[in-house]
Amino acid sequence: MSKSAGREGVLFVVSAPSGAGKTSLCRELIDRFSDLRQSISFTTRQKRYGEQDSVDYHFVSQPVFQGMVDEGQLAEWAEVHGNMYGTSLEVLRQGAAEGIDLLLDIDCQGAAQLKKNYRQGVFIFILPPDLQELEKRLRGRDTDSEEVIRRRLQNAEQEISQAGWYDYLVVNDDFQIALEQLSAIVTAERNRASRNKALLDSFLAMENE
Ligand code: 5GP
Repeated sequence: MSKSAGREGVLFVVSAPSGAGKTSLCRELIDRFSDLRQSISFTTRQKRYGEQDSVDYHFVSQPVFQGMVDEGQLAEWAEVHGNMYGTSLEVLRQGAAEGIDLLLDIDCQGAAQLKKNYRQGVFIFILPPDLQELEKRLRGRDTDSEEVIRRRLQNAEQEISQAGWYDYLVVNDDFQIALEQLSAIVTAERNRASRNKALLDSFLAMENE
């Protein structure tokens, strides 16, 4: 029934302020754990150069997105930088039922909605080493205007001030160390006794045969 020794799939939710390195860390984590799957979000934003529909995102129009919200098809959704983003409820349900571990790279508003509705999820917040370093990284991208950088820094401070409810905090100072810490969280959460009751039951059943 399940891919993971009879246990439910684990939902890993990762959030971070813009510039903390969340996207690269999530990409490496998916590479490292072949059985960890990234959930593909729905968004109303324009496709960027090099992005593919149904690979990076499901790119949809505003009316289509609104229809999904109205019909309760999204487990969470939020407006981020002027565009709508959301996670399919069906994908989460299927992941849990089929024992597929899912990684969600979503913003803090969406993570807070899931925390309310999916208590069994694992919530991870990526921190930059400090705000000066975050500013340096945002400026280093060389793609955003001064106004955008200022807004992102303000948002970052606000998001960090509200991150106390997450289950784990990972500081992305040294990328490899942050990746090791994320990997340790994934492994430990998968091995939680409370998630693996079926494993113990089947072991005991074998012993009694
Ligand atoms: P980008 O447009 O740069 O790919 O993503 C912008 C922000 O939207 C990122 O912080 C990303 O984590 C967030 N995001 C992506 N997908 C979702 C989603 O399904 N729900 C929510 N709430 N945020 C998302």
